[in-house]
Amino acid sequence: MKSYDVAIIGSGPGGYVAAIRCAQLGMKTAIIEKYSTLGGTCLNVGCIPSKALLSSSHHYEEATKHFEDHGIEIPGEIKINLEKMIARKQAVVDQTTGGIDFLMKKNKIDVYEGLGSFKDATHITIEGKDADEIEAKNTIIATGSKPSNLPFINLDKERVITSTEALKLKEVPKHLMIIGGGVIGLELGQVYRRLGAEVTVIEYMDRILPTMDAGLSKELNKVFKKAKCSMMVSHKVQSVERKGDEVIIKAENKKGEVVEFKGDYCLVSVGRRPYTDGLNAEAAGVKINDRGQVEVNDHLQTSASNIYAIGDVVRGAMLAHKAEEEGVFVAETLAGQKPHIDYNLIPGVVYTWPEVAAVGKTEEELKASGTEYKVGQFPFRALGRARASGDIDGFVKILADTSTDEVLGVHMIGARCADLIAEAVTAMEFRASAEDISRYSHAHPTFAEAIKEAALAATDDRALHA
Ligand code: FAD
Ligand code: NAD
Repeated sequence: MKSYDVAIIGSGPGGYVAAIRCAQLGMKTAIIEKYSTLGGTCLNVGCIPSKALLSSSHHYEEATKHFEDHGIEIPGEIKINLEKMIARKQAVVDQTTGGIDFLMKKNKIDVYEGLGSFKDATHITIEGKDADEIEAKNTIIATGSKPSNLPFINLDKERVITSTEALKLKEVPKHLMIIGGGVIGLELGQVYRRLGAEVTVIEYMDRILPTMDAGLSKELNKVFKKAKCSMMVSHKVQSVERKGDEVIIKAENKKGEVVEFKGDYCLVSVGRRPYTDGLNAEAAGVKINDRGQVEVNDHLQTSASNIYAIGDVVRGAMLAHKAEEEGVFVAETLAGQKPHIDYNLIPGVVYTWPEVAAVGKTEEELKASGTEYKVGQFPFRALGRARASGDIDGFVKILADTSTDEVLGVHMIGARCADLIAEAVTAMEFRASAEDISRYSHAHPTFAEAIKEAALAATDDRALHA
């Protein structure tokens, strides 16, 4: 029987990054993945394919709606070839997952294809292509998550679908109805709206993106409404019924009235649930809590002392970069180091256009904790760079402690915010004050100048260009 210092179950961004870091630190490492491609949700049916379709549909929108403003005329009709768009997305996925195969080889990590389940705390049985049993001194559970559903919905995966099917549709829906105005609903809703579908977003809470700063929700809601999407907030879905090619949703609005929506596709995007099916966690003494998460302590150690768990399967944000940080954290812990993760500084990004990005505390959280704070906000429309490219929607908002001026939260919506948020994370990691940010140079003309201006606004209400 092969024996390892560490075995990792699941090859998503949590698992494969943990494997690389373990190997870098000299541990004999194995990774077990039940699918034939590595990379987990993120690379196969999550981050990467959704961003490929967002990019393709963005190009289409630019060509059909904005090229003319720039003096670019395309004679004839601009058409979508959905089959080709989906094939390109798949090629991007294949190239990216192939890259992980290369990284596993490069780092001399043994890859087993098959379902991993615990026989006991130090032995794992693998069922599938590479059926085997291995011994592992330590194991990292990185089994990720699957889409959640509502108990009364029959996900037929044809017309009542999850994000996985929405990434490979064979036609552009006539009317895509989306249950859940969170990250997936908005990203994929925007893809199909751009491609010509009528889009209705049905959200239970009183705003889209309910966990983000309310100012961002409001601004993105405006953008979606401008694109003629129906934004049905404060609607509680009661039933979803399929009749032939039609899907009928009934939902109760704030006034208690039942409203009916009819369309040809319904995307259910109401969150994701931790995935531990087939893991046989009990056999290893690993406790699963009543939310279905693998229970871990501050060191990401489970109730079995040689078994750790990371990523979507444990508490916290379900984000690829959070899973990666945790993978590195456990590898370094196993190597006897003392790593640290500041969960407050894990940024959240929505890859719509304009992009939405945030780090640190929201205004709602600061109010709830009684923290005295000041706000500096700056609109992109006041920036030369934004006007030059025609991306003038959105703003940067900096929240700083009233007495110390320390930056407590940065919330932004606008062009390239997914990349701009890295500056805010860096500043906050080094506990910058708003004045610190306002005093270092930002290249002109850039979108990043909005961060400097918002910092100036927070310092003494002295933005230069507003
Ligand atoms: P996963 O990526 O889910 O990987 C778990 C792996 O474990 C899977 O491959 C699974 O097959 C395998 N597995 C499970 N059980 C077993 C077993 N018993 N034996 C063997 N293998 C097993 N996050 C972002 O940060 N940015 C984004 O832009 C983003 N976009 C997304 C878009 C969509 C449509 C979706 C669905 C998600 C998106 N996410 C995004 C979330 C991101 O994909 C997850 O947070 C991330 O993949 C979690 O990584 P993980 O390693 O914990 O688990
Ligand atoms: P989410 O938690 O972002 O959004 C779910 C939405 O559904 C929420 O707004 C919630 O209020 C709403 N909802 C819940 N029950 C409902 C009901 N009965 N009726 C109507 N609305 C209801 O979840 P998601 O969009 O499904 O995404 C799942 C996970 O994947 C998220 O945790 C997210 O972090 C991750 N993800 C991240 C990215 C990114 O980082 N860009 C992209 C996609 C997915």
